[in-house]
Amino acid sequence: MCGIVGLWNITKAAEHAAFALHAEQHRARDYAGIMTSDGEHAYRHAGAGIASVVFNQKTLDQLHGHHAIGHLRYPTVNDDEQRDNTQPIQGFFRHSWIGVAHNGNLTNVEEIKHNHLSSAKFATSMDTECIVRLITEEGGRDGVLETIARALSKVRGSYALTVLLPDRLLAIRDPSGNRPLVWGKYQGGYAVASETCALTALGIYDHTEVPAGYILSFGENGVEEFPLVSAPTSLPSRCVFELTYYSMPTSRVFGISTTKFRLELGRELAHEHPVEADIVMAIPDSSNAIAAGYAAAQPSTPYAQFSLLRNHYTGRSFIASTPELRRLEVSRKFLFDPEEVLGRRIILVDDSIVRLNTLPKVIANLKEMGATEVHVRIGCPPVTHPCIYGINTPTKAELIASHCTVDEMRELSGATTLAFLSLAGLRKVVDRYVPAATFCYACMDGNYPLPT
Ligand code: SF4
Ligand code: MG
Repeated sequence: MCGIVGLWNITKAAEHAAFALHAEQHRARDYAGIMTSDGEHAYRHAGAGIASVVFNQKTLDQLHGHHAIGHLRYPTVNDDEQRDNTQPIQGFFRHSWIGVAHNGNLTNVEEIKHNHLSSAKFATSMDTECIVRLITEEGGRDGVLETIARALSKVRGSYALTVLLPDRLLAIRDPSGNRPLVWGKYQGGYAVASETCALTALGIYDHTEVPAGYILSFGENGVEEFPLVSAPTSLPSRCVFELTYYSMPTSRVFGISTTKFRLELGRELAHEHPVEADIVMAIPDSSNAIAAGYAAAQPSTPYAQFSLLRNHYTGRSFIASTPELRRLEVSRKFLFDPEEVLGRRIILVDDSIVRLNTLPKVIANLKEMGATEVHVRIGCPPVTHPCIYGINTPTKAELIASHCTVDEMRELSGATTLAFLSLAGLRKVVDRYVPAATFCYACMDGNYPLPT
């Protein structure tokens, strides 16, 4: 999973880009990169770590110009550590340079490598290199946008892009609109970001979605819209996980408030799986709104909002050397209030179960503190299939729900009861905003909707 940004015609664009990346840092924290331009030359700096580690005043001062794109990366493929797998990726295009930052994942990399490129040898392990190579190798003497649209017509899968050229910034969303991308007017220019929270952080409160299947071009002539050549069968397939847990609670994703959506998920979950208990707790932070929604729908059970908190100073994990210390791992991530737990029947809400790593430890801790019952309620259906569109879910074998029944997962986790929101329930909540059929649910139902 990744986060991207773009700035056009902004004084000290690099600093604004670093600021915007920091605001959407939750999207990825393994690598960060920024490329800038003064309209003639391009400058680039990237490295391993979060934006505040990769960039300092000295590196930002060397990124000259009023235009920038930026990238946060969480590896979605097996990275070859000998290669530079940071973005934006730079290439040569029409006697000059081009820079590309990509969020998403392509599904026809091998086909592109062998059928559409001059050589299948790649400098990086990133599918994004396909996009850069397709664009730079695309012939023709027509307009830049025509050329880029033609190059992208060979690409299948998911992509939201910011592209920097000497004379313009592009924001591009694939025809399925699988990943979010928004823009707004900023000072005398424009800003683009994966999530609205990054624009809000810059002080931009008027956000517009980049339309699915379009290139938006920001340059001297203002904003121009250019259609991609979409595959005939492509329908909107927005990632439902962006709404259920991935995006910031303050963001609007696909035009929907993530917090309102999560509150409704919680209500629906309570409606489907009510249970008598004393308090509702969330596994923080991404499940907080779902838990609040659950408690609101079941007023006899208040939301104990401050009894289980996330430790925000976790940093890099270290390897605990003894079983005794390993037992304490969960306390590095979470802070519990034992007084609230003692003698209580708890409804514990989480956004999803992927590997079933964390939940058993949290339940064990709650029981150790004297919880008498722990009823686990999950705000989405079981995750049974890997995501091939850019969310870094593990392989099928590692997904616990792909080979365990709900009762087996309950037993493994130590929960008193365990229940998931149904797919019908999830679709019902989506339907209150936009038609449920315009979303992807492939990691829950195995129906991969994007054309191959
Ligand atoms: Fe999102 Fe799941 Fe679809 Fe991937 S498979 S795009 S995580 S809904
Ligand atoms: Mg979670």
